[in-house]
Amino acid sequence: MIIPINRQLNLVKSHQAGFPYCYCILIKDQSQVLIDSGCSSDIAADLRQQGIDIVINTHFHWDHTRQNQNLGQVQVWCHGLDAPAIRSADIYMERYGFKAFAAEEIGRLFIQANKITDRPVHRELYDGEILDLGKVHLRVIHTPGHTPGHCVFFEEHTGILISGDIDLTSWGPWYLHICSDLDDLIGSIEKCMELRPSMVISGHKGIVDHDLQARFLTYRDCILRKEDEVLRALDKPLTLEELGAFRIFYGFKTKFDKYLQFWEQQGVYIHLQRLIRKGLVRREADRYFRI
Ligand SMILES: [Zn+2]
Repeated sequence: MIIPINRQLNLVKSHQAGFPYCYCILIKDQSQVLIDSGCSSDIAADLRQQGIDIVINTHFHWDHTRQNQNLGQVQVWCHGLDAPAIRSADIYMERYGFKAFAAEEIGRLFIQANKITDRPVHRELYDGEILDLGKVHLRVIHTPGHTPGHCVFFEEHTGILISGDIDLTSWGPWYLHICSDLDDLIGSIEKCMELRPSMVISGHKGIVDHDLQARFLTYRDCILRKEDEVLRALDKPLTLEELGAFRIFYGFKTKFDKYLQFWEQQGVYIHLQRLIRKGLVRREADRYFRI
């Protein structure tokens, strides 16, 4: 479904907006531009017929790039730090930590199930660049943390912020893979907040246009709450595997398996990196100690 937001911007909504799909934005201007391509295949076929010139990916994740190759002869643009993980399925795998966490079998299934392949990126974006699309001018704002090259796009004239996976969901930010960084992510959420947008269009929440300052703070604080949980769990020295069993991210109501344990461990690992930098935790052999 394509829902007009204003004369140029349109929200592209698939039947679901969770992984492996997202909300996309269609900009009808001098060129036809699609921001993120994580829509369902029926919508991709429709967009292909309408004619898309440029796809801009907020970041490399599959649920934001899945239709890049199904939209005809498009130019693909993405920040230079995430372009390698679109160009190479091997680099995609590395960033998800399948190898580093000895979960290569899970990785193979993930790549196969989603049919992730090497795909082109034609232009690498950089922070501060203005994308002049005709009437719409988008400022590229590098907002790393969720992924190294995550970007949001700010339309200064209307105050609309296209925020990708700084998505303002109540679950909080997702950072359960080794290429995430929490200091960067907190800084990026605050950067979005400081823009004081009039409207946010996020990858998994769609249009959010009320209580934005409070919502950004609540969203950022989800990270700090989980950080406290990691610290509380470290009442005694624990391994990453033992910390993963606390299910800080997906909880006890969810059906638990090897796959979820893999994500839990990576999420805890990302918190531990920040806690070590802050001098609150140290590592000795395979155990983590609260200082
Ligand atoms: Zn993402």
